[in-house]
Amino acid sequence: MKETISVIVPVYNEEESIPILYRSLKDVLDRMGSPYEIIFVDDGSEDRTPLILEEIHRGDERVVVLTFRRNFGQTAALVAGFDHARGDIIITMDGDLQNDPEDIPRLLEMMEDYDVVSGWRVNRKDPFLTRRLPSMIANWIISRVTGLRLHDYGCTLKAYRREVIENIKLYGEMHRYIPAVAKWAGARVGEVETTHHPRRFGRSKYGLSRTIKVILDLITIRFLQSFSTKPLHAFGLLGIILGGSGFLISLYLTMEKLLFGQDIGGRPLLLLGVLLIILGVQFIGMGLLGEMLVRIYHESQGKPIYILKRVMRRE
Ligand code: UDP
Ligand code: MG
Repeated sequence: MKETISVIVPVYNEEESIPILYRSLKDVLDRMGSPYEIIFVDDGSEDRTPLILEEIHRGDERVVVLTFRRNFGQTAALVAGFDHARGDIIITMDGDLQNDPEDIPRLLEMMEDYDVVSGWRVNRKDPFLTRRLPSMIANWIISRVTGLRLHDYGCTLKAYRREVIENIKLYGEMHRYIPAVAKWAGARVGEVETTHHPRRFGRSKYGLSRTIKVILDLITIRFLQSFSTKPLHAFGLLGIILGGSGFLISLYLTMEKLLFGQDIGGRPLLLLGVLLIILGVQFIGMGLLGEMLVRIYHESQGKPIYILKRVMRRE
């Protein structure tokens, strides 16, 4: 039996693009012959997007439409799509015609050997200075920090095996890090060259400021990955080293005072000793706080990061 495919398309004010995208997407998917569904997630659009989606849904039972109450951002939209997807293989793509549905067959072909296949916009059609250059730097940093080398973390056109998605929690601008997180969990991650088109309608929703958010999110996921299971081990070790050396320094000064009657009140070393002890206690305290947070985090899992207004899905 052929694997079923879910294509998730987050859209925010893309009224002109959606009908064209829907037709070419349907064309490609019909040609491939696998069972499929297309999930449009309307991320609180203020234009005619909701009406257009409703019309498409009415004419095609394989189109699922999720409508957000307000704009929650692309990551939240993708997560909503993941939550409602029923396919064995999940494909995400942009709704502004910048990704090309014609790349999907190649992505799926690669999925025979991988759990995640990430698109690489070799000829990216976005402004150089504000988009491509920051993104090149970001991709380099992300590759170094995560240990998974990808040319283009930011490309939304990606394919995932459903099990990979099911165990990943996302928020902020984190959807781009799924391949890295999946890789940490042991998934096989591949990369495939994809076509990229300039934006034809509407405006890009992002500027330079996103790169900064992307890097901040990188710190979070890296931190969560290495410290979230045992924060006390990470902070506590530093605390013991700092506090321990502070204790030794103070012990040494105490000996000098008690055994040799030396005046230690004006010694800079005294300050250092005290400082190190305080720092050590602080770090251990932070580790314990971290332990508490980890516990709360695990207990509160399952909390959604979006509010759905309605779900249009035909049974
Ligand atoms: N998008 C979204 N919510 C947002 C911003 C963007 O669902 O808050 C969608 C948008 O409609 C598009 C995709 O995410 O389908 C990528 O956005 P955009 O094309 O503006 O990003 P760029 O291609 O400029 O990086
Ligand atoms: Mg775009």
